[in-house]
Amino acid sequence: MSLSEIKTRIRNAEELAGRQAGSVQLIAVSKVQPNARVQAVLEQGHRLFGENKVQEAQGKWPMFKEQFADVQVHLIGPLQTNKIKSAIELFDAIHTVDRPKLARKLATEIQAQGKSPDMFIQINTGEEPQKAGVSPADADTFIQECQDLDLPIIGLMVIPPVNEEPSLHFALLRKIAERNGLTGLSMGMSSDFERAVALGATHVRVGSAIFGERDY
Ligand SMILES: *Cc1c(COP(=O)(O)O)cnc(C)c1O
Repeated sequence: MSLSEIKTRIRNAEELAGRQAGSVQLIAVSKVQPNARVQAVLEQGHRLFGENKVQEAQGKWPMFKEQFADVQVHLIGPLQTNKIKSAIELFDAIHTVDRPKLARKLATEIQAQGKSPDMFIQINTGEEPQKAGVSPADADTFIQECQDLDLPIIGLMVIPPVNEEPSLHFALLRKIAERNGLTGLSMGMSSDFERAVALGATHVRVGSAIFGERDY
């Protein structure tokens, strides 16, 4: 598939859901992809990308940002507290705020740098023990904690369990966001982004459907 096909499918899904054209942002997930493929997508005019590792992103995005000034990169993978400084320097948004210690340290580092990426709180809607994210039962309290720290929380993020219908998880994420007055919804990947758009996604994270399979 190509970038333009994915964009068309997003527009169609927006229209089908009665949503305004352009209300969904496409994050092209470039993790593990060779630089030549990323360069090609940049040359097609796309400017919003996602990476799941701080170190990997540091290895390519400062270079691409010099070449394409208006590029934005979002962190969509887990953030270790020892990488907070680099993460705030490099990323335009962080989708994986998920624990009090991380939230406190992010708040301190934002003060120190005088700049801040937008932030999403990751919710573990499937309550999978191996997966990052706040459980739905703890979500309201944690969102409040982050707001008390003045973190710029703009929404929630989810990675649904692999073998379950994602729509149930998208709907739950939306419900938690709505009751907390949050409007951003980071949900939907290559296999389910249209369903996510139907349920209100504001940011879809699409990797392999744009770039091809990742070669680990
Ligand atoms: C890799 C990744 C994606 C993209 O997955 P695809 O199936 O390649 O679209 C989306 N979100 C997160 C958090 C990821 O790590």
